[in-house]
Amino acid sequence: MRDLASAIALRHDLHAHAQLSGMELYAHDCILKWLAPLCPTKVFSHVGGHSVVAVWGMEPSLPTILFRADTDALPIEESADFSYCSRTPGVSHKCGHDGHSAALLAFAHELFATDHPSWLDFTRCNIVLVFQGEEETGQGSRKLLEEQVLQVYNIQVCYAVHNVPGYPMGQIVCAEPTFAAASCGIGVALRGRTTHASTPELGKNPAAAMAQLTMELMRWNDSAQGIDAFRLITPVFLHMGERAFGTSPGDASVGYTLRTYSNRSMETLFGAAQQTVQRIATEQGLLYEITQAEAFRATEVSPTWLQRLRRVCGAEGWDVCMREKPFRWSEDFANYLQLYPGVMVGVGAGATHVELHHPDYDFPDELLMVIVNLYVGLLRDFCSTL
Ligand SMILES: [Zn+2]
Ligand SMILES: [Zn+2]
Repeated sequence: MRDLASAIALRHDLHAHAQLSGMELYAHDCILKWLAPLCPTKVFSHVGGHSVVAVWGMEPSLPTILFRADTDALPIEESADFSYCSRTPGVSHKCGHDGHSAALLAFAHELFATDHPSWLDFTRCNIVLVFQGEEETGQGSRKLLEEQVLQVYNIQVCYAVHNVPGYPMGQIVCAEPTFAAASCGIGVALRGRTTHASTPELGKNPAAAMAQLTMELMRWNDSAQGIDAFRLITPVFLHMGERAFGTSPGDASVGYTLRTYSNRSMETLFGAAQQTVQRIATEQGLLYEITQAEAFRATEVSPTWLQRLRRVCGAEGWDVCMREKPFRWSEDFANYLQLYPGVMVGVGAGATHVELHHPDYDFPDELLMVIVNLYVGLLRDFCSTL
């Protein structure tokens, strides 16, 4: 696959066979098939689920560079009608992970399809490519890193790319010190007492507590702030009772997504939210239970490696946009960056391209070679200082 047409065909194949987080078997097998002719030194399959790790290089203690792509799709029905539409009902690639995976495979083919380039010396370094599932649920990187496949390698830097609609096609989009926000779900179960609707005073109806909690948490929103003070609380579900007008319900469950730009702010915000639940529930005589879900850490980039990335872009004449603030969405690549220095970088998918997770979204194929060229540039830069 040393040509764009093959990379596009691969992307369309992955797109047509979209699978949800934790079920990425088609992508797993397809990736193994495309890796096989490239003779990696080692391939680890079904890592922490259906992730694949491929390594080139003989000596794990040598300086190692890692590139990661994600493989999972979303529970969104595809609204478009093109030849490679998702064949999985209710599931489609609306975040472009099909493109990220195809680009990483195309990069591998660029390097290893024939004799690898002379500047790539495996007596001095290793390359690790990670095709990771379950990114959308925030589980994939944690599960993969827990498997400790990567632990033996002397990983000096790691990179991942995400396409970003709203930016000119191919523009490199960076943010420092944080690329994407931390986010965390907080679920609250409230338990009161169910009674007849004619005598609510005999029971404990949680409606007022739900309303008060929602209002209080949302009053904390301050999305105009910078790294340390930004906080955003979004109500995501509020459930209480049935369409049964004779009953005053006793149980409720509510959930909110908390968002900050730093891991420390997230700890503070989550703690404050817990205390608020406790106070309101106690005041209203309700029992409560708090659960944490889908926790993503902030995606904190290495200033040193970001500077090197910017130098590579400068030398190649690639357009770079430095954002003033992190993206508000979260990325589970953050977990790699807690262990290894590295950079998460955006690549513009077109200024007017439909946004991520929209039913009309599709990864623009023009980006495949942009990502391949970026990775080649980053790898060459890594090799140049060994
Ligand atoms: Zn997504
Ligand atoms: Zn994504």
